[in-house]
Amino acid sequence: MSYLVIAFFFGLAGAWVARLKGNSMWVWFLVSGIVPFIGLAAALLYRSEEDEPRRSCPTCGRVCMLHDALCTRCGTELEWPDETLHGAAPVA
Ligand SMILES: [Zn+2]
Repeated sequence: MSYLVIAFFFGLAGAWVARLKGNSMWVWFLVSGIVPFIGLAAALLYRSEEDEPRRSCPTCGRVCMLHDALCTRCGTELEWPDETLHGAAPVA
């Protein structure tokens, strides 16, 4: 019984983390509930590549991650862009 309570609260925590990161709440509720500690840790560490904002390199046009400081193709130093290719990431 106590395991179910623990699993439930870990599930809630995982869902909450997922919601903050824009991931699927139900998936992480289940994952965190089934494997409480590992699932919650995974939810905290998980990064959704789909939701990652991107921008194109001004030199070669390669699509890079927003957080990349250097273009991985041509090595151009990338400034923080004014606009992204994939959604608008609010910078708080
Ligand atoms: Zn480049």
